Amino acid sequence: MSLLKVYGATDVGKRRPHNEDSFLIGPRDNFVVADGMGGHAAGEVASSILVETMKKELPRPEVIMDQLGLEYVVKEANRAILRAVQENPERDGMGTTVVLLHIGEKRAVWANVGDSRLYRWRKGVFEQLSHDHSLVAEMVENGTITPEEASHHPQRNMLLRAVGVEADVKVDTAEAPVENGDIYLLCTDGLTNMVDDDVISKVLTDETVGDKSQELIRLANENGGRDNITVIVVEYHE
Ligand code: CA
Repeated sequence: MSLLKVYGATDVGKRRPHNEDSFLIGPRDNFVVADGMGGHAAGEVASSILVETMKKELPRPEVIMDQLGLEYVVKEANRAILRAVQENPERDGMGTTVVLLHIGEKRAVWANVGDSRLYRWRKGVFEQLSHDHSLVAEMVENGTITPEEASHHPQRNMLLRAVGVEADVKVDTAEAPVENGDIYLLCTDGLTNMVDDDVISKVLTDETVGDKSQELIRLANENGGRDNITVIVVEYHE
């Protein structure tokens, strides 16, 4: 018998006029964070279409909660956003990131596109499980810049992949066993660009913090809140 303790929240931040992020604490222990992009508030539309698609698809018993199933629901969201662009051509170019986590019996399964992230805290080790599809992540991988330089790079927002932009989308998926005491964090870059990993890790394990998502958002805003901030924290207890 396992028990999940979940916190989730989103905030516009201190600088942006709109909140283009969306999130879902969804059916069947699925958790979704999306960071929309596109002019004229289209980013808001893209990330909310993604979340609405997940609300429809995730409860369907035909959708198996494995890597292929998660890939399928992301591709459905891709189709739904493209349809919305066809109906409203002024929204051309809108798209969204996605990070989707499913906690099943003994296993975590996840999928992502773009630079919204999944992290795991386990026995003192805080690490990113998802892989960013961004220009700076690629530059770090091929050694052009250091991770430190990536965090200040002028093109750090440039994505190499997003949902809703092309007819097909390549989705990264992976899975791993869950362990008692694991803490999972899904977030947009409005958190990770504003708050250091070691500070995030401390909040995740601080028993005195009531709502960990609200506390992380508070810290991002305290540091400037330059972007929309969205956070889901999932604690797994056996
Ligand atoms: Ca963002």
